[in-house]
Amino acid sequence: MSEFQKLYQKHEKRLDGSQLLLRAYKSALYHERWKKRNIDVKELKGYKGLKEVPFTSANDLRIAWENHSVEDLILTETVGFWYTTSGSMGNKKWIPWTYGDYKLAGVATAHILMNTLSPTDRVLTIVLPPPFISGTMPFKLLENTGNLGTPVEILAFSPEYVQDGFGLLLKRPPTAIVGTPSITLRMADEVAINTPIILKARAEMEKSMKLRVAAFATKLKKIYPKNIFKDMKYGFFGGESLDPFRKAIEDKWGLEAFDIYAFTEGFGGGYECKEHNGMHFPSSHAIVEIIPDKELEKEENDPEYHPDAILITEAEKGLTGELVLTDFKEAMPMIRYRVRDAVKVIATDDCACGEDSVRLKIIGRTDSVINLGIIRLSAIIFDQLLRKEFKKGKVKLWEVFVSREKYKPKITLTVEPEFTNNEEEFKKELFESLHGFDLFQRGYDNGLFVFDEIKIVSELKHEVYGQGKSRLVRYHQNFFEEVKF
Ligand SMILES: [Zn+2]
Repeated sequence: MSEFQKLYQKHEKRLDGSQLLLRAYKSALYHERWKKRNIDVKELKGYKGLKEVPFTSANDLRIAWENHSVEDLILTETVGFWYTTSGSMGNKKWIPWTYGDYKLAGVATAHILMNTLSPTDRVLTIVLPPPFISGTMPFKLLENTGNLGTPVEILAFSPEYVQDGFGLLLKRPPTAIVGTPSITLRMADEVAINTPIILKARAEMEKSMKLRVAAFATKLKKIYPKNIFKDMKYGFFGGESLDPFRKAIEDKWGLEAFDIYAFTEGFGGGYECKEHNGMHFPSSHAIVEIIPDKELEKEENDPEYHPDAILITEAEKGLTGELVLTDFKEAMPMIRYRVRDAVKVIATDDCACGEDSVRLKIIGRTDSVINLGIIRLSAIIFDQLLRKEFKKGKVKLWEVFVSREKYKPKITLTVEPEFTNNEEEFKKELFESLHGFDLFQRGYDNGLFVFDEIKIVSELKHEVYGQGKSRLVRYHQNFFEEVKF
């Protein structure tokens, strides 16, 4: 039996030994929904018992948050840290982690990075500040690599602060980077703009001829981060899929890129090893299941249908479906949480790196979300914004097409109006309505995506799927593949 199989045997014992389901049942997040299904929670044993309880969605989290006090939701007396997600619907989800939860996750992350890094490495982290979970990462990384006896040097910046920190980076060049792919790629452009300015300023201050020559030289050829940070070796990327950006980042930064999968709601992340063949899901404190595509289809045709999921240790190579996670967090354990990421099982055998856990690849989303990488906009919100009362027209049908302009996601909105008495003015009203939604506004104003012109057509034909349902969000066939630049 493989180590991975043994781990899942231990997980099953832990499930019963810690009475995870019985404990979770006390939380308002689960109580009503489980009661409705007439489940005798005391009788649930092992993985068979776990399969009896319904899945949990982001929407369930939101409803529970709106209708209950924190005390009804959490299972512990105290909380260590409150994390948030930006939330595709605009309203925030707040996720409580205890100090114990925080410590467990930190140790796991440090172990993963130290597979590749050594104590002499200097890690540049470009992460969103608290209350986003990534905000605690730089500190956790120092603490936990330190606890392992191999502390690494951390150069930590929020995306807004990178420019101010540039002088430090030139004097103390990083050897590894941790961040989101799109921001790291965008930073490559900023490096090209800033380097000549900074070198020139330093040359004047230090009266250095060498620097003056260097500043002049950077004007003559296009510079990339790899020309500046010559010791850069590795990059670890999370928050969005790495694949579309991998080659561009590796080329511009001169590094080997690794994909990392983590999410705010709980444990159960994954990481890529040196083999670069999907992500390992070692899951020391979480149970991974996959809802196969054909079960998802049945659910699509009958929303009352309760799809069956396959435990990851029983999944075969090539299986595609939706990722489901159950974790052993203390304050608010996630029980059968649907992350809405579509995955493919890439390998189930032993890996050359020495790890034998299953390797998965994220291949898309299973909900109707306008996925712009780190920004995800709900199609439901889009619909509400486009169906408001406007002076210059009324929307009958709409469709969003997501493609790319260089590496940035590009949205093209096509609208079939019920009527319009001034197309140009109507387009302005539509855009203003979308721009009033704070997630859209932040993404648009910060240049995280491109908004193409709005197209007004007399007849919009939706792509039809399933039982005559129409698709409001379409992706360019290459959207999830490598970007060209
Ligand atoms: Zn491996």
